[in-house]
Amino acid sequence: MLQPVRGTHDLLPDDARRHRFVTDTARETALRFGFREIATPIFEFTEVFTRTLGETSDIVTKEMYTFLDQGGDSLTLRPEGTAGVARALISGGLAQNLPLKFFYAGPMFRYERPQKGRLRQFHQIGVECLGQQHPFADAEAIAAGAAILDLLGVGGKVTLEINTLGDTESRLAYRTELVAYLEKFRDDLSSESRERLARNPLRILDSKNKDDRAVIANAPVFSDFLTDDAAAFFATVCRGLDGLGIGYVVNPRLVRGLDYYCHTAFEFTTDALGAQGTVLAGGRYDGLIRSMGGPSVPGVGWAAGIERLSMLIGDAGADPAAIAVVPVGDGLDDKALTLAATLRRAGFRVETTFQGNLKKRMKFADKVGARCAVIFGEDEVKKGVLTLRDLRTGAQEEVVEGEIGRAVSRLLTS
Ligand code: ATP
Ligand code: MG
Repeated sequence: MLQPVRGTHDLLPDDARRHRFVTDTARETALRFGFREIATPIFEFTEVFTRTLGETSDIVTKEMYTFLDQGGDSLTLRPEGTAGVARALISGGLAQNLPLKFFYAGPMFRYERPQKGRLRQFHQIGVECLGQQHPFADAEAIAAGAAILDLLGVGGKVTLEINTLGDTESRLAYRTELVAYLEKFRDDLSSESRERLARNPLRILDSKNKDDRAVIANAPVFSDFLTDDAAAFFATVCRGLDGLGIGYVVNPRLVRGLDYYCHTAFEFTTDALGAQGTVLAGGRYDGLIRSMGGPSVPGVGWAAGIERLSMLIGDAGADPAAIAVVPVGDGLDDKALTLAATLRRAGFRVETTFQGNLKKRMKFADKVGARCAVIFGEDEVKKGVLTLRDLRTGAQEEVVEGEIGRAVSRLLTS
């Protein structure tokens, strides 16, 4: 039997509905913050990602779906959204019109070990603010994320953690101290972290390995190495969040897995999802566009996993209630067909079945979760009336056919 590829998922109607609710809520909310939707291709030249994500990042070394196309070009299914947006900014000559703010939503691809909340094709929503150097741009990007989480009804289930990765000068000073510390515990580190020691030691702070975590617990903290400028930048971000009434916890151990981040790093995390607790993550990436060969353009943004959010939202964004049209007796299907069409034109979600006796049809109404049924037999048709049954209470009333739309509306809002 044909199986789906490991780590991929069909979005059956209930999943698709939750995804759509997350995406629609995010898109509308992001727009209020000035983020307008952009859609970039699902695959790019591999270089778009290797240049931006850093040759040593997890994504580039282990997780990319890379292939040669028939023309011999190396292409990669996008593992994240920022690199594509940055590429679009450069190749579209958009850097003339800064600042620009974008929202995106769509599938991402990473070759990872599948588990709850971790897939190989997953979906993200995200925002990018390009061309704004001010720390309040960071505060507003975070505020957009917080507003979306609130509107999804998960605000109470998440904690905002923030940190600063400082500027280049701060990072170099810290890096030296960190390496000196980690070298002392070299033998206790995982082999992966030992390898990273020379290439990018900051990443070790992001390790999920238990032995690594024990060593990291006592490592020097970045905040002790911040330059005055970097410290002031971070203080302003925090002041912005305070002014907006957005609660946060400063987590000095928070780093981001990608090379291009500087200054602000943040994550909204939850303990409701087990190990995969980060639902939304982002930060500032002032060096990114330049590293791709574009002009020097500051940026700040975030991405959130739609699957993880979907697991948190419960029944929010339910489909509109359904109405079942149920003819009783033979020869009434034509009437049912046109009556359903009339109700749909009036905006209702209508379910029809043209098979089986009354009992079968009522069972169908139940199965599709109909809120009410419009039932009629030959007698009703002759009298020009319909029976409207509330399927929750069992109560029913006779309604003049021309009044059925109003009667259904009344029942649905009762
Ligand atoms: P993690 O530490 O969980 O691997 P990450 O740092 O790789 O996360 P980002 O690249 O920051 O994640 O992506 C932002 C968000 O996208 C994550 O917080 C998460 O909600 C979601 N996400 C990332 N990878 C996956 C995946 N493989 N499956 C489902 N969602 C994912
Ligand atoms: Mg990851």
